[in-house]
Amino acid sequence: MTYLLNSPDDFAEEAVRGLVASHPDLLVEVPGGVARSTQTPAGQPALVIGGGSGHYPAFAGWVGPGMGHGAPCGKIFSSPSASEVYSVVRNAENGGGVILGFGNYAGDVLHFGLAAEKLRHEGIDVRIVTVSDDIASNTSENHRDRRGVAGDLPVFKIAGAAIEAGADLDEAERLAWKANDATRSFGLAFEGCTLPGSDDPLFHVEKGSMGVGLGIHGEPGVRDADIGSAADIADLLVDELLAEEPPRGEDGYDGRVAVILNGLGTVKYEELFVVYGRIAERLEQRGLTVVRPEVGEFVTSLDMAGLSLTLVFLDDELEKLWLAPAETPAYRRGSMPVVDRAPRTGTWDPGKTEIPDASEDSRTCAQKIVAVLERFRQVCADNEGELGRLDAVAGDGDHGQGMVFGSRGAAGAARTAVDQGAGARTTLLMAGEAWADAAGGTSGALWGAALTSAGGEFSDTEGAEERSVVDAVTAGIDAVLRLGGAEPGDKTMVDAAVPFRDALTDAFDTDAGPAITAAARVAHDAAAKTADITARLGRARVLGEKSVGTPDPGALSFALLMTALGEHLTR
Ligand code: ADP
Ligand code: MG
Repeated sequence: MTYLLNSPDDFAEEAVRGLVASHPDLLVEVPGGVARSTQTPAGQPALVIGGGSGHYPAFAGWVGPGMGHGAPCGKIFSSPSASEVYSVVRNAENGGGVILGFGNYAGDVLHFGLAAEKLRHEGIDVRIVTVSDDIASNTSENHRDRRGVAGDLPVFKIAGAAIEAGADLDEAERLAWKANDATRSFGLAFEGCTLPGSDDPLFHVEKGSMGVGLGIHGEPGVRDADIGSAADIADLLVDELLAEEPPRGEDGYDGRVAVILNGLGTVKYEELFVVYGRIAERLEQRGLTVVRPEVGEFVTSLDMAGLSLTLVFLDDELEKLWLAPAETPAYRRGSMPVVDRAPRTGTWDPGKTEIPDASEDSRTCAQKIVAVLERFRQVCADNEGELGRLDAVAGDGDHGQGMVFGSRGAAGAARTAVDQGAGARTTLLMAGEAWADAAGGTSGALWGAALTSAGGEFSDTEGAEERSVVDAVTAGIDAVLRLGGAEPGDKTMVDAAVPFRDALTDAFDTDAGPAITAAARVAHDAAAKTADITARLGRARVLGEKSVGTPDPGALSFALLMTALGEHLTR
């Protein structure tokens, strides 16, 4: 558990602030995360790396010469929002374009992808590199569809070194993908991790056994096995990874490997060294040459008891970059050439959005929107525990928290907008942006987009009709389908939203409230039925089988909010 905190909600942000305060020579806090505190040469590509918090040193601990240029920092285990990514890029980019590097998770793909769209519109060349080293999460033919774990370290180290050595954006991107394609990881957990402020771990592993193939967000292992000796564990890790060793003598690979033995949280250094001793022996027996091994904590998962092994199959090019110097808070190697590093001058700030003029009717409608969002906030708070428990079965347990943060952010932003005279359209647009910002995660991006699209159906100059409410709800659902790309049967909120939308179209006659209530009953039944299906998308995908018997948390929260909407409008 977490012993030291002020408030669970502010934990991630306060940790970033303290990290920056302890490394003023390297880091500066910017809206949404951190950037280098020193200037970079004009025209140099920027490597912006990120993801949720709770994984230190990933990712903010790797910002500095030779590695990252900036890191957007999400909430615990939850992707940074698109606007956090955007803001950090604006602070890190210096005319050479940007590589967005992150682990391959649905929430991160959505938020970083949205930020990339916006940046490209503004003329910035953006490349996306998703790290996908975890062999437990997919087959070797689908290596780039796997999820990312400790492979973040070598991929970002190699890309950062290439940029430091003068690579342009194309070259840096090529090398980042090459490093990812050469990297394999496998992990084990003996006990789950506990979110700050929570009493119980996200999952338990039975005493004497271990979760094999764990994820770094507290996603449980893909199978359980008995804990053996340290040597047994070393053998298991080595055997799993070497099954994917590329043929020697091809493509410049001749048996040189970078090796990273990574502690996830509460496995201590001495234990890691005991395991590493055996790993080194085994690799030598296989005729491999270990290049600059790393044993320690690199990609952690709060206080998870577990460890992972990463191998990078090196050629000359990758080896040189793996060995190049770096100077970051958590990763220092060799000494950077002495150059004049001027401190950066100021930081970019998103500033305030203008509120367009609105009619009396539209402002009245906006007040009602605030009341609905307040109701959403209440429903999310009442169901936080249950939604988190459902998400912990095969996901990462943060769905309740994400919905609470998102709805609270949206309600707050809507109230502020109305206080400044905003109409219905602007109120919903701002609420949507705030939901995505406050929640992070997959569902945060999707609910944010839903609210924003719903806002597009309202006007700032005219009042709304009953029809507009139905159109807005429909537009919101369509946005989720478009952006998330899920289909009914994938075990996501779409399984509740699509039957809901169809029922709503049938039920609507003159009044939106009763029609939404009727459709929400259909959504509830559909959400309950998701218990029968295997998850194919999102975080739960890897553990699809484990999700059978448990309904999808996102489908349930959707049904709960539509029920609340129907009740509110009918009153
Ligand atoms: P994360 O998966 O990032 O931890 P949450 O836990 O907040 O995010 O949300 C998980 C929910 O998001 C799932 O239960 C599912 O309903 C929904 N979800 C995941 N992927 C998609 C998708 N592609 N389309 C629609 N909904 C999705
Ligand atoms: Mg989740």
